[in-house]
Amino acid sequence: MREWECGCCGRWRVSVELIRGRYRYRLVRRYPARFGGGKDVLGEVGTVAELDDLLRRRTPLTLADLHETEPA
Ligand SMILES: [Zn+2]
Repeated sequence: MREWECGCCGRWRVSVELIRGRYRYRLVRRYPARFGGGKDVLGEVGTVAELDDLLRRRTPLTLADLHETEPA
């Protein structure tokens, strides 16, 4: 699956997930280990336009701040 993360701090991640037979973009905020680790799923959307809107509402980022990560 493809995945993107922000270039500023790496805490914001977007992954493509297959949910109930449809691919959706999942926006996740990861917490550093010193804050207890873990992550929050902030939302799942079906289109890039919706992802752009979700980023604007829930993060300080725009699509341009995300960079695709290397496949594991
Ligand atoms: Zn960042």
